[in-house]
Amino acid sequence: MQQAIDPATGDTISSYEELGNKMLNKAIVAADTAYQDWQLVALDEKARKLRNAARVLEEEKEALSMLITREMGKPIKAAQAEIEKCAWTCLYYAQNAERFLRDEFVVTDAAKSYIAYRPIGPLLAIMPWNFPFWQVFRFAAPNLMAGNTILLKHAPNVPGCALAIASIFEKAGYPKGVFNSLLIPQKKVKRLIKNRLVRGVTLTGSVGAGRAVAAEAGKALKKTVLELGGSDPYLILEDADIAKAARTCAQSRLLNNGQSCIGAKRFIVLEPVYKDFLDAFRAEMGKAVLGDPLEQQTTLGPLARADLREQLHSQVKQSRKKGAKIILGGKKAKGKGYYYPPTILAGVQRGMPAYHEELFGPVASVMKAQNEREAVRLANDTLFGLGAGIFTQDLERGERLAREHLQAGSCFVNEMVKSDPRLPFGGIKNSGYGRELSHYGLREFTNPKTVYIE
Ligand code: NDP
Repeated sequence: MQQAIDPATGDTISSYEELGNKMLNKAIVAADTAYQDWQLVALDEKARKLRNAARVLEEEKEALSMLITREMGKPIKAAQAEIEKCAWTCLYYAQNAERFLRDEFVVTDAAKSYIAYRPIGPLLAIMPWNFPFWQVFRFAAPNLMAGNTILLKHAPNVPGCALAIASIFEKAGYPKGVFNSLLIPQKKVKRLIKNRLVRGVTLTGSVGAGRAVAAEAGKALKKTVLELGGSDPYLILEDADIAKAARTCAQSRLLNNGQSCIGAKRFIVLEPVYKDFLDAFRAEMGKAVLGDPLEQQTTLGPLARADLREQLHSQVKQSRKKGAKIILGGKKAKGKGYYYPPTILAGVQRGMPAYHEELFGPVASVMKAQNEREAVRLANDTLFGLGAGIFTQDLERGERLAREHLQAGSCFVNEMVKSDPRLPFGGIKNSGYGRELSHYGLREFTNPKTVYIE
């Protein structure tokens, strides 16, 4: 059984039967059978269906965003924005996939030689609950255009979202078997990876889950793309616009109730502006409206699960024990639901969980650096490498740090790190490998086939 629990109350919303082995095998065969035809469907037709999916998302936005909020607790306005971003991404790939997949001709000794980006088959997508629609659509939109079919194993706390996504593709007119939501427990993932019909695996989630899935996929010699979160550093340099930096940093840290892989997590502030930034940042974080995520004015809802709140609070307590100073928050909210207040830890140092680990909740770690060199060293002193931000009014300086010094998949200057279908998204180091979005994401699970005609 998979149970959806409302994180705002702790009450069970609904329960769903999981798939047995027989139905699971049937779904894998269906995905492969569908693939045989889908790979040959013209791009125009594939684009038409993806536009239909965008239309269904827009038409059902109210109900779908309500489902997201009830199952994982993000504020309702953010859930609506998530649905809109999914629709935009469908339209983006419907419009641009043909260009990204176009044959690339190469002059050789042949009469004709070129690279054709061909699909590879059914793909297993293992997805988390934090952006229950977006994580799926950012993978599905490009891959369906590429001609692959999809088997989704979603996180067990968002089963309603998993089924709703399958229903969107059905309503959009996709043939049976092209997109499949499988309500299965984690222990069945191995079986899927081993199955010879499954040709590739993508996972978004924790480092531990990434390691386990990559190991299984390695045994089966299947390609993986992994997006494993981050502990994004934001550098506030002495010439930054402090008011803007504080506002943007708080917005990024609190995004999605603090549960975003590319949320700003570590704030490295140069000594001359340390006090000013901390005061402004505290004021901005303190403005968050904590409460029922279904209320329009709420900006900070509950964490998605009770265990996630326990883990976050334990990281805060451990960091405090080792010398971090709590400037704001730091206490679990009383009453029903998994609420956690906006929290700031200052004086964060090596050896503390807040320094080394990802804090998946509304908790900011602030550090002081004496100069730019030390700031870069602190920023890169992490196992993660997903995103990074720099605040400075010297744009050349910001660009130099972004381009050459910060170890991350995306570096933004004077803006929070955001995903965008037009730009590649992914990490280095323990944040994973491979890319989502842009033409890189579209080609990850294609075979760049050499065609040579004498
Ligand atoms: P998990 O990484 O455990 O879950 C993410 C997805 O991976 C779920 O569908 C989960 O399924 C699946 N999964 C986990 N372990 C395995 C495995 N061994 N084999 C196959 N599939 C697996 O994340 P949690 O929800 O437990 O969150 C824990 C932490 O992970 C967070 O605090 C955060 O640090 C990080 N995280 C990062 C995200 C990101 O956007 N990069 C998103 C979510 C979490 P199941 O639940 O059935 O195990």
